[in-house]
Amino acid sequence: MVKRYKKRLGQHFLYDSNVINKIIDVIRPSKKDIFLEIGPGEGALTNSLYNVIEKIYLIEKDKDLIPFLKHQYDNTKKIHIINADILKYDLSKLMKSQFRIIGNLPYNISTEIIFRVITMAPKIKDIHFMLQKEVIERIVSTPGSKIYGRLSVMTQLYFNVKKLFNISANVFIPKPKVDSAYIRLLPRKTRFLNQNHEISFKKIVTIAFTARRKMIKTSLKKFIDEDTLKSLSIDPKSRPETLSVDNFMDISKNVK
Ligand code: SAH
Repeated sequence: MVKRYKKRLGQHFLYDSNVINKIIDVIRPSKKDIFLEIGPGEGALTNSLYNVIEKIYLIEKDKDLIPFLKHQYDNTKKIHIINADILKYDLSKLMKSQFRIIGNLPYNISTEIIFRVITMAPKIKDIHFMLQKEVIERIVSTPGSKIYGRLSVMTQLYFNVKKLFNISANVFIPKPKVDSAYIRLLPRKTRFLNQNHEISFKKIVTIAFTARRKMIKTSLKKFIDEDTLKSLSIDPKSRPETLSVDNFMDISKNVK
């Protein structure tokens, strides 16, 4: 067990075998699987996976944990330990075939990690993340909810999302100040016409939610006019939080 936990790296390690088993149960690892684990820490999840599966890549930023991980797993060719920052590492180098992604994420950067990983959707078989409960609630929230926003739209665009269960703060060392939960993301087919369309979708969603209180006819004026919105059965006076992922898709297809 490490003696000092690094707060700036969001280190809250899981030592509770009941919770670990519950997580492995929902992940259902199988022999042919190739995993990418973000932030393995001391291997709480890795330990339960590596006997079962084909290959696992670990991306851990904390260089002080690397000797420990290497010592733990050195004898196995199944495990590739990468000392890197997940926000900087070029995942496309790694993900040549379909990957399963897991991680008990560092909460201080969890939404950044999600925004980064979701665009890899075509290369992903599924994602299982432990996150702060509120972040999971934002991801799964639906139009009309106060917490529905850019994170919900962007994640639901690329994935079917499902909250699986809550996890008590008491099972971590050190104990986090926030509650946790577990989520599964399964890739869905996106219907972008081309790469430019994908870029303009992201731009529109970002701009609309940056001006959350503004009517979309105002915030998106540069991109779409009122008549076009009406022709798409979208009220120009609506606010972004009432628009579905499909509405945003329709808008992005009709930008000026
Ligand atoms: N999976 C372990 C640890 C979870 S804590 C467990 O459940 O016990 C989060 C982990 O993410 C820590 O090991 C931390 O060092 C690592 N981490 C933090 N920021 C990171 C980053 N940018 N890239 C990769 N790993 C990171």
